[in-house]
Amino acid sequence: MNAAAQELLGFSRREGRRLMDLWWKRMTEAAETGQPCAYVFVMAPLSELLLTFDFVINAPEITSLQTAVRGQSQAYIQLAEDYGYSPDICGYVKADVGVQLKQGEHPYGRVPRPALVVTNNVCNTYIKWAEIWEHLYGCPVFTLDLPGWRGRESLEPGTEAFQQTFENDCRYVLGQLRELIGLCEQVTGKRFDVDRFRQHLEETNRMAALYDAVCDTNRHVPAPFNAPLEGVTYQGIANLYRGTPEGTQYFQMALEEMRERARLGLAAVPDERFRLVLVGTACYSHFRRFVELFSSWGGVFVHSTYMVFAGGGFVPGFGYDLAQPLESFAEQMVRATYWGWTGAMFYQQGWLERVVRDWKVDGICFHGVKSCRTTSTGLPDVREWMRIQRNVPGLFIQSDLVDPRLWSDAQIKNRVDAFFEALAAHKLAAGR
Ligand code: SF4
Repeated sequence: MNAAAQELLGFSRREGRRLMDLWWKRMTEAAETGQPCAYVFVMAPLSELLLTFDFVINAPEITSLQTAVRGQSQAYIQLAEDYGYSPDICGYVKADVGVQLKQGEHPYGRVPRPALVVTNNVCNTYIKWAEIWEHLYGCPVFTLDLPGWRGRESLEPGTEAFQQTFENDCRYVLGQLRELIGLCEQVTGKRFDVDRFRQHLEETNRMAALYDAVCDTNRHVPAPFNAPLEGVTYQGIANLYRGTPEGTQYFQMALEEMRERARLGLAAVPDERFRLVLVGTACYSHFRRFVELFSSWGGVFVHSTYMVFAGGGFVPGFGYDLAQPLESFAEQMVRATYWGWTGAMFYQQGWLERVVRDWKVDGICFHGVKSCRTTSTGLPDVREWMRIQRNVPGLFIQSDLVDPRLWSDAQIKNRVDAFFEALAAHKLAAGR
């Protein structure tokens, strides 16, 4: 293998780390200089608009997740609980409250105070979380009301009912975006520059196509990447560098790397035996262990719902219409909410069927997160549906996103081991 090929292999991990460090450097500098920082969530990110006003963007779900990856989430969560937050509140919220109570001190740098918070209703916790920052800092909070699920019939594309609902929803969101632009102008003292906005949208168009193509490389057997490992870096970059040339270049190179890995037959998990899909998130306080429990059986996660509903807000096949940037931005938000809610967060069976077929999946792991009812509700029902209707075996386990006290190693290991034994028998019976 020549030097260039060697350099390419390992690019996405190496460059992902560099971009994450750079983001933390920018956040820490903003905390020191007072450059305006906007807090925004990974479901319905608004990077293109916020970058137009030169906001530094903080994604608090990512900073919370990182406290766990660094093995320090418990101390932050404890601080929040000592302050009065209940043990059953979302772990991301409590880890962030701990960081805020320490004046933004974080294992990776410093989180700036918010100059603006943009929240939304995609998760009900988002609204209460934003109220915490409002209470702590007295900052302006803008709540985007994003229309979602109204029953299957009205969401069936091609019907008149769908079209009417969809157009009304786009107009409704467009009106809110115009209000938000006014607020951004007020907070930053800058005028909205539609040409800059358009440039960011153009970058997102490229990046979204590349992100999808990277996910597609995992259709290859053996899979070149593991969704909860490399995939979580992809999600991070997709959110933090959305709409920027750095983000686009990253995914361009990551795609080349994954294609090269596939061409060379380099597997994410050596001796791949079982191809899995993860519904939900991993447990980030036991990140390596979580993955190891599966990879030790030759199990690789070829995809995850988290890569979809929290993976930068991309809608498969959608590109911004640069001639109508704001209208198109509103349309994308509506589509992303429809798609995220009904395609990946809830009622995942349609998406799962497609992934099982196209990514050649043997089994599904449903990870219920005790402090996140939003993404955990209904998982056992979907598991049963996939088992009975589609003969796809599923494992249901429970722990948390970031709270290490909710990880029970022996119990989870027992369930995972039993699942693989059953899965091996299932594959044998199916002649695979
Ligand atoms: S989706 Fe779950 S993890 Fe994310 S903010 Fe809502 S409750 Fe917390």
